[in-house]
Amino acid sequence: MFVESRLKFYKEHYPESPSYRLEQFERAFFTPGIRSVEAMTTLSKTERETLKDLPWLTFPETLILTSKKQDTFKAIVTLHDDKKIETVLMQNRRGHWTVCVSSQVGCAMACTFCATGTMGFTRNLTVDEIVDQYRLWVMYLEDRPELAPRITNIVFMGMGEPLANYQNVKTTIETILRYTEIGPTRITVSTVGLIPMLTKLLDDETWPPVRLAVSLHSADPTTRSAIMPSSYANFLEKLLEWTEKYFAKFATRRRHITFEYVMLSKVNDTSAHAKALIQFARRVGKVRINLIPYNFTGDIYRDSLPEDFAHFENELREAGVLVTRRKTMGDDIAAACGQLVVENNKQ
Ligand code: SF4
Repeated sequence: MFVESRLKFYKEHYPESPSYRLEQFERAFFTPGIRSVEAMTTLSKTERETLKDLPWLTFPETLILTSKKQDTFKAIVTLHDDKKIETVLMQNRRGHWTVCVSSQVGCAMACTFCATGTMGFTRNLTVDEIVDQYRLWVMYLEDRPELAPRITNIVFMGMGEPLANYQNVKTTIETILRYTEIGPTRITVSTVGLIPMLTKLLDDETWPPVRLAVSLHSADPTTRSAIMPSSYANFLEKLLEWTEKYFAKFATRRRHITFEYVMLSKVNDTSAHAKALIQFARRVGKVRINLIPYNFTGDIYRDSLPEDFAHFENELREAGVLVTRRKTMGDDIAAACGQLVVENNKQ
């Protein structure tokens, strides 16, 4: 049995139900120890009978791969229409877990360094399909007492462009914030930089105050357009204008924007590229540059040579730019950044 939305299904069957009952119903899906509708003691016997066939997870099938270091797990999830997506569980520096979720089947953005980009776009994921990626990992950890139990962070960095599935991503975040202990600063939405959607987000009074990361990958317009087909001539200026509005709106909060920057050998990791990035970062202001080691996804690119990477990073640091380097995890199970692809989804 597949339902587009469990909550909608409940509402359709019990339209007179007060809102607290809806909340009880939804909360049960996040309550440790409850693994079926039949176990929901907050529901009446009749309700449990009516709803008993609701799937506990929306996925008919899941295959889980474990990295050699046992610090990264990747789930290849089959959806009700036989499409597949991937979600990743990674141990973070504090020993807790970060879940990376997908928001679409495939992706239309076609970034040339990303395996998902080669799949093309198939469809948006529903709220239940995104929420259940998190729930899948909660149950996975519950069943393995030898692993640390806490998931503290969620990143929308899996397959797809989250802001192209705006409403479902927003509802997912609201659901997570309502029923888990994960706070908004522990949730990061990573976008290729869809300016109209970023603008919509700024105008949206109810958009949750989660962290944002923009995939920049070059502050040189020609280089950026070459590696990211979704870019365009005046993108950087538009992004700058947007960040000004963002900081104006959130002036009272301690906020910075993160720019993601995948390091591609001789493509965007030269000294000239570092200078362009420094200049752009200075114009933006409160920005953190997150340098990402390139993970092999095909023959077009090579990862930055260690000395080039270090040189680039130092140039930024010496110029006073806040810079971090992302740790590569799960590359042995193709779970690292940019490696998520599922063959049979290819058009
Ligand atoms: S990097 Fe993100 S936006 Fe670009 S193709 Fe891959 S999934 Fe899509």
